[in-house]
Amino acid sequence: MLQYPHLEKALKHHFGYDQFRPGQRQIIEDALQNRDLMVVMPTGGGKSLCFQLPALLKPGLTVVVSPLIALMQDQVEALRTNNISATFLNSSLNTYKVRSREEAIMNGKVKLLYVAPERLVSDRFLPLLDVVKEKIGIANFAIDEAHCVSEWGHDFRPEYRQLILLRKRYPQVPTTALTATATDRVRSDIIQQLGLKQPSIHIASFNRQNLYYEVRSKSKQAYAELLEIVRENEGSGIIYCLTRKKVDELTFKLQKDKVAALPYHAGLSDEERSKNQTRFIRDDVRVMVATIAFGMGINKPDVRFVIHSDLPRNLESYYQESGRAGRDDEPSRCTLFFSFGDVKTIEWSINQKTDPQEQLIAKQQLRQVIDYAEGTDCRRTIQLSYFGERFPGNCGNCDNCLYPKPVQDWTIEAMKFLSCVARCKERYGMVYIIDVLRGAKNQKIALNKHDELSTYGIGKDRTVDEWRMLGRSLLHQGLLEQTPDGYSVLKLNPLSWEVMRKQRTVSIAVPVAQKINLEDGNTKAAEVEILMNRLRILRKQLADEQAVPPYVIFHDSTLKLMAQVQPKTLYEFGELSGVGSHKLAQYGDKFLAEIQAYRQEQNLQIPKNNPVYYPAVDNFPSDTESSTLELYQQGLTIEEIAQERNVRTSTIIKHLSDLIEKNQPVDLNQLVPLEHQKKIWQVLEVLGDISLTPIRENLGQSYTFDEIRLVRARWRREKRKTELS
Ligand code: ADP
Ligand code: ZN
Repeated sequence: MLQYPHLEKALKHHFGYDQFRPGQRQIIEDALQNRDLMVVMPTGGGKSLCFQLPALLKPGLTVVVSPLIALMQDQVEALRTNNISATFLNSSLNTYKVRSREEAIMNGKVKLLYVAPERLVSDRFLPLLDVVKEKIGIANFAIDEAHCVSEWGHDFRPEYRQLILLRKRYPQVPTTALTATATDRVRSDIIQQLGLKQPSIHIASFNRQNLYYEVRSKSKQAYAELLEIVRENEGSGIIYCLTRKKVDELTFKLQKDKVAALPYHAGLSDEERSKNQTRFIRDDVRVMVATIAFGMGINKPDVRFVIHSDLPRNLESYYQESGRAGRDDEPSRCTLFFSFGDVKTIEWSINQKTDPQEQLIAKQQLRQVIDYAEGTDCRRTIQLSYFGERFPGNCGNCDNCLYPKPVQDWTIEAMKFLSCVARCKERYGMVYIIDVLRGAKNQKIALNKHDELSTYGIGKDRTVDEWRMLGRSLLHQGLLEQTPDGYSVLKLNPLSWEVMRKQRTVSIAVPVAQKINLEDGNTKAAEVEILMNRLRILRKQLADEQAVPPYVIFHDSTLKLMAQVQPKTLYEFGELSGVGSHKLAQYGDKFLAEIQAYRQEQNLQIPKNNPVYYPAVDNFPSDTESSTLELYQQGLTIEEIAQERNVRTSTIIKHLSDLIEKNQPVDLNQLVPLEHQKKIWQVLEVLGDISLTPIRENLGQSYTFDEIRLVRARWRREKRKTELS
């Protein structure tokens, strides 16, 4: 038995969603029992809802502690479009506004209050909170980004430490702590620092199923590949670079290639940064090129791709940064461009560190990133194992699972390579060794008399790139060493000798060409995409009128549903996931009208634009057909038209079929269920254009002659189109 059977109804009513995300229901039930809670969920997991829905179901005020002004504004805006009374108090407001908001709170008009920690515990605010407690009650303290309380986290904020005061002052009010930070140490620190009492702990899986992970080598074509990714994706994206300079260069290049991109880094003025950020969030520009300074506090749910154009510092940051893609659970892409040049740069900067302990940690972290990038296992397995989560692999949504690199036996080549290193007395780097192997004629080799070595020129059958790939793989597999002094001299180790003595075989993963295919481009997908674009434009207009980000109106996932389902009535519209009662009333008509307009144009458009396909004579309906069409467009049923015109229904069906064949605006989908259309179409493809009876025999009793006639008309039209084109 469910303890709270009506939670789904409340979810739909207030937020428009049909289902809870994994973990949400259990957390909300615990919250309704007034338990302390510790919620660990990856970015995009849907943490906010875990305190927002209980806030609406419980009496009293829910106080949400949030570290960033941008985050507060964002959430409050989103809540308000669902007609939920939420407000925030922070330093961006003038005294007058603060007063009036405080008054609203005291009068019980606010369900959710967002506030910064330092204000919450201030001498001015606490007395006010006392009054709220007495008059209307405090339902819950929700501490968002709770890892800020821990020094072990990546974003420690001393103000968070004072929050323990709340526990002391209001011991009966339950506390919910929420974070996306995965490590054990931070979790236990949060529980302790906030004084949570026997909290119910919820740790969601860190697997983000909707994200496609891939690693590409940063070759000469890397920019072209990057541009392709940007162009293939309709929506917004973030591109991370290591330095300000690279951010500026890449932004410039993209702009030159007509991509709406803006830069974001610490070198820009505060004003410009926040302007660029707002333009990104509001969908005025599509791409943000940024250093890692960008992203914290960005709640944009519809980021479709995150590209790391340079190597990230460690796997945790890679997970968090790439995780800014696809918070709305829609398919999104995370691409990492990997090069050994980057490894060198990072190694160099690690060597500059003076603290040997720090150096060691940094080296380990770099090793893990390289293992991820070079790994041939499922990318998820590698990532999640880093967070202590076991994942069986074969995710079907990463490059290694979709395009497994064939593993080849390169033992002979490895022996050649390593013995060349030995013959050259372990005094040279990779480039030189490859030159010797390939028998290059250069001065240095001649001078060293290395053209007299037995290994000189024994590797002409492989390209430089292939040898380099082998060399890296040997390094990566620990079968060869490299000095860390910046010269990268190749050195042999005991394992290298095992290979040379034929005691060990060497396999390497050989890359295969990859191509982008997030979704296959069938026509249905293309149609959905066209309609979605129109809906996006409408959404943007509405958002601009209210000065909010477009995703606050509807998420991409909801727009997509609109485009796929193409609802005709408000009732159907309200059924879509993401449409709550308030948004239905607010926007339903506008979006329905847009969908309707699209459908009409779809039906009318073709003869106008493509007269070649349809000789004009053929396309004109006869007078009697026109009369039928007129009534049909007025919304009459087939029976009603037949009655009105005093003819048999079969005649009307014949008219409608001929109208369809003449490409007139008759919507087949309203007349024949899609499943039937498909089956009939298949049979027509096999049997060709024949009379109705054999088709019906083939299909069986559940198909009517009328349906077959109507679909055949459409089929004929399509055939004619292809014949003529
Ligand atoms: P987090 O804070 O965990 O990063 P959010 O609370 O911002 O994630 O939620 C991410 C997105 O998912 C939000 O846009 C939110 O509206 C949406 N979302 C949350 N719960 C659901 C649900 N049950 N069904 C569909 N979408 C949801
Ligand atoms: Zn995988």
